[in-house]
Amino acid sequence: MSKHCSCGSVMKLMLRTVIFAKKVNINNVPVYNCEGCGRNDVFPGVKEDVGKLVGQLGAAPIAKSISFDEMHEWASVLSQAKLRSESLQETMIASATEERINELLDLLLLATSIGDDVWKMEIESRLSQLSAQYIL
Ligand SMILES: [Zn+2]
Repeated sequence: MSKHCSCGSVMKLMLRTVIFAKKVNINNVPVYNCEGCGRNDVFPGVKEDVGKLVGQLGAAPIAKSISFDEMHEWASVLSQAKLRSESLQETMIASATEERINELLDLLLLATSIGDDVWKMEIESRLSQLSAQYIL
């Protein structure tokens, strides 16, 4: 997946470590990286969730590493896709996303059938993390 940078080069989607307040490493954040000028743009579909995470850390966070792909379904799908192929291809991401959505829908069905509302809500919020990427 790619888009054009203002410098004219191509920006490619990749997973990178974002360092916050020089202390906190947020690993596996989906960003567009420009090969020409080195610019990094956090992928629009996860920007809000990265913002929320940073907000929770506060102004003076303690040094630590966070794996964004453990918190966000789509980042998790991307990091799984990256295990299969180094460059993130659109068709591969789409099919990996669909697979994960189907898994979650199965879980949702199960949660509904046993009447576990807390679990149901958790799965619904995970599903919404996978659809956020389409609202660009
Ligand atoms: Zn550029």
